[in-house]
Order: sequence, then C-alpha cells, then structure tokens
Amino acid sequence: MNRDYGIDIWGDNNFFIKNSSVNINYKSKPSLLEITQNIRREGYKGPILLRFPHLIKKQIATLYHQFNRAIKEFEYQGEFNAVFPLKVNQFPNFVNSLIEVSKEYNYGLEAGSKAELLITMTHTPIGSPITVNGFKDREMISLCFIASNMGHDIIITIEGLGELETIIEVDREFNQDNIEAIRPKIGVRIRLHSTGIGTWAKSGGYSSKFGLTSTELLEAYDLIKKHNLLNRLYMIHFHIGSQMSEIAPLKKALREAGNIYADLKNRGANELNAINIGGGLAVEYSQHTNNKEMNYELSEFANDVVFLIKEIAKNKNIKEPDIFTESGRFIASSHSVLIAPVLELFSQDYHQKSLRLKEKNPPLISELYDLWRELNRSNAREYLHDAIDHIESLLTLFDLGYIDLEDRSNSEILVHLIIKKAITLLQNEGIEELNKLQNKIQERYLVNFSAFQSLPDFWGLQQHFPMMPIHKLDSEPTNPATIWDITCDSDGEIPFNNNLPLYLHDIDVTKEEYFIAFFLTGAYQEVLGMRHNLFTHPTEVVVEFDKKGKYQLKNLIESQTIMDVLEDIDYDKSSLDKKLKQQIKSSKLINETQKSDLLGKLYLYLSENSYLKTIQANDLKMDN
Ligand SMILES: *Cc1c(COP(=O)(O)O)cnc(C)c1O
Repeated sequence: MNRDYGIDIWGDNNFFIKNSSVNINYKSKPSLLEITQNIRREGYKGPILLRFPHLIKKQIATLYHQFNRAIKEFEYQGEFNAVFPLKVNQFPNFVNSLIEVSKEYNYGLEAGSKAELLITMTHTPIGSPITVNGFKDREMISLCFIASNMGHDIIITIEGLGELETIIEVDREFNQDNIEAIRPKIGVRIRLHSTGIGTWAKSGGYSSKFGLTSTELLEAYDLIKKHNLLNRLYMIHFHIGSQMSEIAPLKKALREAGNIYADLKNRGANELNAINIGGGLAVEYSQHTNNKEMNYELSEFANDVVFLIKEIAKNKNIKEPDIFTESGRFIASSHSVLIAPVLELFSQDYHQKSLRLKEKNPPLISELYDLWRELNRSNAREYLHDAIDHIESLLTLFDLGYIDLEDRSNSEILVHLIIKKAITLLQNEGIEELNKLQNKIQERYLVNFSAFQSLPDFWGLQQHFPMMPIHKLDSEPTNPATIWDITCDSDGEIPFNNNLPLYLHDIDVTKEEYFIAFFLTGAYQEVLGMRHNLFTHPTEVVVEFDKKGKYQLKNLIESQTIMDVLEDIDYDKSSLDKKLKQQIKSSKLINETQKSDLLGKLYLYLSENSYLKTIQANDLKMDN
C-alpha cells in the first residue's frame, strides 16, 4: 500500500482518488475535503460522521439483484425477502434513510429488543416483513400481537420452548378480548450442530445462546399443533455469526436447516414456507492484499443458497420455500465515513528545522550531516549502516561527557532524517532491516476523535477499518504512522504495524490542516461506541444528492454539549450550573467586571461539544 491506501480492495468503487483528494463516485462527484470544509466553516469542529444514503441503496439493490438473478438462473420457485437487523445501526438518520431508499423493495426490519420492536412498528411500511428475534417476555410478545393487529406482517421467532408457551398465553388473552385478533406468524430458530467460524462463532452451534435442539423442536411442533397455531408456523430461522470469512459453514448450516424444514413440512406444517438464513455476509475491510477478510463474492453466496435449498426441496419432494436474509453489516457498513482532523505530530522535533548545528561540530556529527546530504538510492543501505554506527558512538560520547545536549539532539535528528530518507528511497524493495527501522522512526499523529466512541470494534475485537488522508494524495506519504486518539487511555492507539503498514504525510499542522478518514464504520460501531472520557457521538450529517446531482447537507446533529453529556450520566445540570455560578460570584480574586466577563466565557465553553477544537492552528484558513 502506498498512495492509494488499498482503495481498490475495500472501496467497492464508492470513492476514487482524483489528483490530490478522495472523491465520492456518485453524481457530481464532490471531494470529501470540500464537504468537510463546508461543515467546519459553519463552526462544527471535532470529528464529523458523514452518511451517504445512496450507498445504503446500492447495497440493498445489490442484495436483491444477486438473489433474484440466482432465483431466475436456477428457476427457483420461492421468493427472496430481506429485513435489516436493527442492532447493526438504530440511529434515526440511518434508519430514516434506509426506509426512504428501500421503497421500491419489500424491505423490512428485524428487532431484537422492545425498543427495536418499537422502531420496526413505527418505521416499517405496512406489508413489508418484520422479524422479531432474541429473548422475549410477555410484554414483547404482546407488542408483536398489537403490531399484527395494526396490519404489520410480523414474524416472531421462538428462541426457546418457554417463549412458545408465552405466545400461547398471549394468543389466548388477545383472542378473548377480540375474536378477530390477527395473530403474528411464528418462526423457530434452530440450534445447529454445525458451528460458525470467526470471532462471532458463538451465534451458531450447540453452545449457542439461541435456538431449539431437535428434541425441543419436536416438542414445540406438538405444542403448536395442540393449540391450533399450526397455520401460523411460517419460518425456520438460523444465524451462524457475523463477518463470515468463507462460505463453507453457511452451506453446512443450510443443509441442516433445509432438512429440518422439509421434515416439518412433511409432518404437516402446511403453512411453513420460509427459510431465514440470518446475517453474516462479510465486508472487506482490508487495505492490504495479504490479509483479505472475505474469500467469496455475493454472487457465489446467492448461488449457493438458492441452489442448495432447491436441491433439498427436490430430494424431499416439497415446495421450494421463500428465502429471507437478515444481512446487516453488508447493508450498513459502507454508508458512513468518519472524518477527523489531525491535531499534532509528536516527533516533529526530529525535523530539519530543529537542528542546532554549531560553527564547529564534533567530527561524527559533521559526518552524519554529509551522509544525510549525499544519501541516494545506490548508497542508501551502506550510508544507513554508517549512520547507525555513528549514533551508537555519539550516545556513548554523551554518556562520557564529551559532547553536549545540543550535539546529542543534532545527532538524533540527523539519524532520523537519514533513516527516513533511506526508507523513502528503498520503500519498494522489501528489505527486512528497513521494516524494523520503521518502527523506530514512526510518527505519532494525534487525531481529534475517540477510538472507543467511533471504532469500538477496533478496541474490542482488533477489527481493522480502512483509513487514509482525504487530501494531499498527489504527494508521497513518507511517515510510518501510529494514530493516537484524544482519550487519556493508551488503548486509544492504532499502532504502526509492519505487516500492514500505514504511511501518512509529513505535514506541519501549524501551517495546514490534515484530515484522516475512517471508512466502513456504518455497522455496529455507533451504538457500541463508549463514552470513555465522556467523548460522545461525533457531529453527524446526511449527504444527499439532488436532481441536478449537487450534494445537500441534511439533518445535521451536533455532538452533545459538555453539560448534556454530564446530564446523560445523571448529573443534575442545574445544580452543576448553580455551583459554577456561585464559585465565580464568591471568588475574592476578581472584581465585578472580571466576574461577568468570566461568566460569559464559561457559558460559551459549556455550550460546546467535548471534542477538542484545535490545539495550535486556531485561525487556520484553507478556503481554496
Ligand atoms: C446480528 C444478527 C444479524 C446480522 O448479522 P450481520 O453479520 O450484521 O449480517 C442477523 N440476524 C440475527 C439473528 C442477528 O443476531
């Protein structure tokens, strides 16, 4: 990876590099920098999360297209259906866009809790499917009955026998009050003996939290039949885990689920008509060809699902069922990009401008200086070895008192400059020794964001997210880079990794702005985000394109103010306010004019969000 930051691997043609900047590959193709500058000009500093509804639409369209293509190709008789699992992203700016762009499909929502169920009841168009998974109590099941009476096409997935008993009770209650009650459809989640793979494998398999074993399934069938609910038994459901890197485990699970489906069907479950394959479709987050996360394409995935179910139906002589998916990561991840300004570079002291060369320098330092000036591609390795030799000697001389602090500083800077120059010249030669040196001269970029808030899966699961600068791409990035966030936690660091190196530009933040973008952050990250150090959700904006192709910034939600953050964790805002006021009023150190001045300043700061504004370059202008 160098200048293109692997954009062809993870970018899916959504973004492209033009001259020096990253542009959106849609309509008028604006650059991310232009949009960022426009928002910042309005006074919103700190990290900014951009949402792109056209990318949600693209994913939904692709999913439907691939499955419908496979259905046509294999002359499959069932239909394809899909729902979005809300746990992947429940934020209103996302959900509202999702509903808006999916109008032409019969796309529905999936809920795993009461709060999510409420979102599905208020946002799913009547007629589109709603699936309800996860642990449910009586109230949650009652809500499902209310939804079905509103006209929603709702399917309750039974995760255990207890839930089925509750459904039977709630059904009785609703039928007592209202003879005409419309019952929800019923699905059963099966506990697979085949397990998923990867970090999330716990979702499938015998030790899974969810699903019925074959013994429980038979019991459930009898109960359903006994209580005259057989005409509502509609779906078999499984979910083998997220970010499936390969397709084999899904095929295994499908064979298992398909045969269970066929068995129940042949037993007399006449209305049973759907297999729900859950989520798990992976996203390619990799920026390097040597660590790809996904070894299949969506087309292959769709072919395998359709073909396998068709085969089982044929062998068991049953009608081909409708196919449901609940892919979430695949739908949501590409839609958002987090853009954060770099606040500081930490080893800028190793810059040429910091050299304090004397009239007369110790001979080894003069030699170092010459090595640096004369270093070129053909002598780079030799000069590099000489330089490392010299620095050892110079440090010994310092310890023995022969050279002073200025000499020592000069030698450190010169060796840094030499290593940097050599690395730039030899970058593509794959020299092991150079790789090791990169660790020594890596630059720490302090970036105005919180990894805990915005990339929690990096912290919790070492999930890599593609990252790159959004401008300056016409020049070579030369600094091996570590990224530091602004939390006071040493885990808030994305360290330089020799195997998956990230290089950033050598910039002077006192003179120019520099923005890093994190891509594919749209799935799971937002609601998992932690308020570590009380940094909250970044300022967010929806970027839509009008008929003429121009972009519009909509539904801006600013990051919470400092006071609101505190209120959120249950501090009493007015008592904090009173205390602050009181302490200024009773201060003996200042006069009345100074007091009212301080109060004014204080309230200005309290009205701002908790991210840093800028450290040095307060009045930077880059409006060109
Ligand atoms: C989490 C979950 C999904 C979504 O999985 P992705 O990997 O995001 O596609 C789908 N179905 C169920 C039951 C889930 O728990």
